[in-house]
Amino acid sequence: MQPDPAPAPAPAAVPATPRWQRLWREAVRDPRELLAMLGLDAVAAGISDAAAAQFAMRVPRGFAARMRPGDLHDPLLRQVLPVVDEERIVPGFALDAVGDGAAKKADGVIQKYRGRALLVATGSCAVNCRYCFRRHFPYADETAARDGWAGAVAAIAADPGIDEVILSGGDPLSLATPKLAELSAQLAAIPHIRRLRIHSRLPVVLPERVDEAFVEWMSALPWPVAFVVHANHANEFDASVDQALARLRRAGAQLLNQAVLLRGVNDSVDALAELCERGYAAGVLPYYLHQLDRIQGAAHFEVDDERARALHRQLAARLSGYLVPKLVREVQGDPGKRPL
Ligand SMILES: *Cc1c(COP(=O)(O)O)cnc(C)c1O
Ligand code: SF4
Repeated sequence: MQPDPAPAPAPAAVPATPRWQRLWREAVRDPRELLAMLGLDAVAAGISDAAAAQFAMRVPRGFAARMRPGDLHDPLLRQVLPVVDEERIVPGFALDAVGDGAAKKADGVIQKYRGRALLVATGSCAVNCRYCFRRHFPYADETAARDGWAGAVAAIAADPGIDEVILSGGDPLSLATPKLAELSAQLAAIPHIRRLRIHSRLPVVLPERVDEAFVEWMSALPWPVAFVVHANHANEFDASVDQALARLRRAGAQLLNQAVLLRGVNDSVDALAELCERGYAAGVLPYYLHQLDRIQGAAHFEVDDERARALHRQLAARLSGYLVPKLVREVQGDPGKRPL
């Protein structure tokens, strides 16, 4: 008989994959599967394989669970389902609607406005929103993470006029927490940074992302944190989202919401008022209501300016002043978002 081999050395503690990363990978990517889950017919829904090939569908299962079964016009479904309307070429709707190319300061750093620099932390998102400019740049090859943050951090360090760094993307929370910690450690050495801002849709579409490790990281940051989430409809909130937002608040973040005005999703004063009130109940103040960026494939979501203004006026007549978001549009070359 052979002697037993020496026992293998105990494996070094391999950190378990965080739960949110598993949920991320299990997202629904097949439009037919999503429709079947909701008891809907693919033909009636007008889904488009061409649109899905151009910009893949991606929907976390928890987000899909907040859709109303049997309702083709569900406001959450409309935001994520690839449909034939996207194939229409509409004059004025371009591939790069916001002119980010012109505002580049370094790889992954965009500065358009005084005092604040936007850091494109990553190109990925947990959900693919059909109206997003990202549909034409899904890979964002120029993220700030690529060289271990060196180029981005050097560009910010070299400009004392920057006092606020905005982590954006893609979705910055698609980066693992240790990666975010790497970045914040480098930024902490820059004396002129006084505020950090995070733009992320994950607390809403994949609230499990706000786990203990993340909260620990955020609580220890040396700056006040403004956390701007992105919800377009009251139905996007549920108990799991409320919990994630409560954790962010306990970690010291000021919570704000930006929404996009979308035809067929939230273009009624009732839907907008409910969104603002539901967000506030979860500790989130309305910040911006954006007019759609005019990108190819999103024309069917557009609400014209006159209707947008009318909706906004009605909203202001209904709600407390602090519950009314600013109605804005991004215009290339402007010193900030342009009020309508
Ligand atoms: C929208 C945006 C900001 C943030 O603008 P605020 O009005 O401060 O919210 C900053 N940088 C860029 C490039 C932007 O597009
Ligand atoms: S950047 Fe925001 S709006 Fe665009 S796909 Fe990602 S989560 Fe959606």
